[in-house]
Amino acid sequence: MKSSLAATNILIVEDEGLIALDLETHLLNLGYQIAGIAETGRLAIQKALASPLPDLILMDIRLKGDMDGIEAASKIIAQIDIPIIFLTAFADNSTLNRAKLISPFAYIRKPFDIADLHISIEIALQKHCSEKIIKQQKNWLNTVLESIGDAVVTTDNDGNVTFINRVAESITQWIKSESLGRPINDVVPLVDYYKKSIENPILQALRAGRGEPLPEGTLLITKNQQEVPVEDSAVLILDDMQHAHGAVIVFRDISERIAVKQQLFYQAYYDTLTNLPNRLLFINRLQHLVDLNKRYSNCQFAVLFVDLDRFKIVNDSLGHPIGDQLLIATAKRLQKCLRPTDTVARFGGDEFAILLEQCPDFQSVCKLADRINHELSVPYRLSSYDLFSSASIGIVKWQSHYETAEDLVRDADIAMYQAKANGKGRYAIFDDTMHTQVKRRLTLENDLRQAVSNNALIIYYQPIVSLANSKIVGFEALARWEHPEQGLISPEIFIPIAEETGLIVQIDQWVLRQACQQIKIWQDQFSGETKLGVSVNFSSYHLSQPDVVEQVKQALADADLSAASLRLEITESTLIENPELVAQILLELKILGVEIYIDDFGTGYSSLSRLHKYPISTLKIDRSFIHNIDSNTEQFEIVRTIIILAKALNMTTIAEGVETEKEIEAICGLGCEYVQGYYFYRPLTCKQVTALLEN
Ligand code: C2E
Ligand code: MG
Ligand code: MG
Repeated sequence: MKSSLAATNILIVEDEGLIALDLETHLLNLGYQIAGIAETGRLAIQKALASPLPDLILMDIRLKGDMDGIEAASKIIAQIDIPIIFLTAFADNSTLNRAKLISPFAYIRKPFDIADLHISIEIALQKHCSEKIIKQQKNWLNTVLESIGDAVVTTDNDGNVTFINRVAESITQWIKSESLGRPINDVVPLVDYYKKSIENPILQALRAGRGEPLPEGTLLITKNQQEVPVEDSAVLILDDMQHAHGAVIVFRDISERIAVKQQLFYQAYYDTLTNLPNRLLFINRLQHLVDLNKRYSNCQFAVLFVDLDRFKIVNDSLGHPIGDQLLIATAKRLQKCLRPTDTVARFGGDEFAILLEQCPDFQSVCKLADRINHELSVPYRLSSYDLFSSASIGIVKWQSHYETAEDLVRDADIAMYQAKANGKGRYAIFDDTMHTQVKRRLTLENDLRQAVSNNALIIYYQPIVSLANSKIVGFEALARWEHPEQGLISPEIFIPIAEETGLIVQIDQWVLRQACQQIKIWQDQFSGETKLGVSVNFSSYHLSQPDVVEQVKQALADADLSAASLRLEITESTLIENPELVAQILLELKILGVEIYIDDFGTGYSSLSRLHKYPISTLKIDRSFIHNIDSNTEQFEIVRTIIILAKALNMTTIAEGVETEKEIEAICGLGCEYVQGYYFYRPLTCKQVTALLEN
């Protein structure tokens, strides 16, 4: 738009030369510039498009040549935005109708009054300028509406669609051309959570002046009948007189937000490995039931605590992926045993918990526990392994003195421990005496801690005898605990506690140092033809301590004992738990000159094919194979095989727990070299050993 008259540049299209000149003179007098004069339609187009572009065209309709003014005008405005005023002597209807299609800014009859022409030119320029502003605003608005992230749909007062932006097109799956003019309910149909139709907020706004926000859970049904969760706002569109002329709804697809919310909920309350509820969700449900029961009814329910037996061995020997598969398979089997109203959760590791709601009698709970035990004992086929598993189950039933969910879970856990102690693969029902036992055990744990720091442990020595000549070749050092009230406590009781609490490291270390010193004393006192050796038990936890080799070196040095006199007894499970590390440590010990014995051989799960990879000198055949052994038993074959294997691997064998003459005969015949058992000697005190050696 030009700001001053002087700059307004007008193109005259007129085929009569005199009229054109006359016009030019008048316009120049009025202060306009003349962009040029064209006599034909074609010239008019040429000059209109030449730069600098004219600001306005005065166009005669009838022109020389094959193109009249209307056709020329339509070709020009197809290319540039310019106001055109028709000047003509003709005003017949058909000409008028053709001219109208072009929306000229004025239509002036010849001969014209120059003052009228002046006014028409000024109005045309002004109107063109306003239209340009409106067009720019429209473009601006369009760009904004198309680029915002929300869906926008507008309607007229009847609720028929007048505009739909790209986001709305993509959510509703209606394209613009199809949706314009359609009722809003066709394009944006809404239903509630129960799939019942909801009045569109646009129609509400049109009816009541304002649209209520959509209720939570509202779904939009797309053209392809998909459901999209949406959120919205709708308002009336008012004109400057505050009259409604339509309404607009702005809405957005909240599927992603809902998915994130669900994901967060899942992560907080479910176990991702098994897809079972986790501890938190279980405790929530249980607490709810406890609260209900305390307030209203006294409905019967029970909590089961399920712990897989020996899961650690599976994990350690076959690897975590197989361990994970076993957990997933176990979760499925547990679910199979339950009703939909029951809850089974994974508490972590190999622990599961079950909440049995509405159990009519306690017998049915026990039956279920049996069923679970049975179900879990069916072998699992995982990758290429056939795995046998079992679980220990603790059961606690609801009683009104319980205040919290945690109390019930604690007692179910205690009962589960009882089931394990009773021999695994079974269930135990919680009763109050178990509490006492747990307390006793806790006290024992504390007492043991004190005993260790007060050096209240003692060592017994059990002779190991050569079968060739019945001579004592060495001793096994066995720890005992002299309890101030309970008397002598067996290692069968306190070693597991020590292993659980980590006290075992201190105990083993102490036994090692004491035993080294003691055997040195006996060696010095009673130097026979064979040097007496001493065996010390090392738990797997102790063996994986980083400074274990250093500890052994130090103990030998402090006692001034030769390494060849020391034997360390480890179990098969120690080999399985951390094979690489253990192999390394054993090698270092072997280089030092210390011998390695495998204790309780035959009870673990070590793979025979790997045995030769470790520097092992001796296998101690477990007592369970020796007990009542005679040539017709299956044990006999096992022991025979072990001895053949040991010979093949250049290892010696010691039979543990030999109690009878018959047992001695049996193992003698099989070529076993050494024995340790009550038949010859029980574990003895230092004094007893000294007396024995003196004789
Ligand atoms: P173990 O290393 O297999 O020790 C042999 C066990 O068999 C000893 O039980 C011993 O008294 C018992 N025994 C020996 N001969 C016979 C027999 O003829 N008949 C029967 N029925 N039993 C026999 P003890 O002293 O009660 O020790 C039990 C286990 O405690 C040991 O089994 C060992 O694994 C562990 N232990 C003992 N002292 C220590 C220690 O200082 N450190 C560690 N880590 N473990 C220890
Ligand atoms: Mg031993
Ligand atoms: Mg043993």
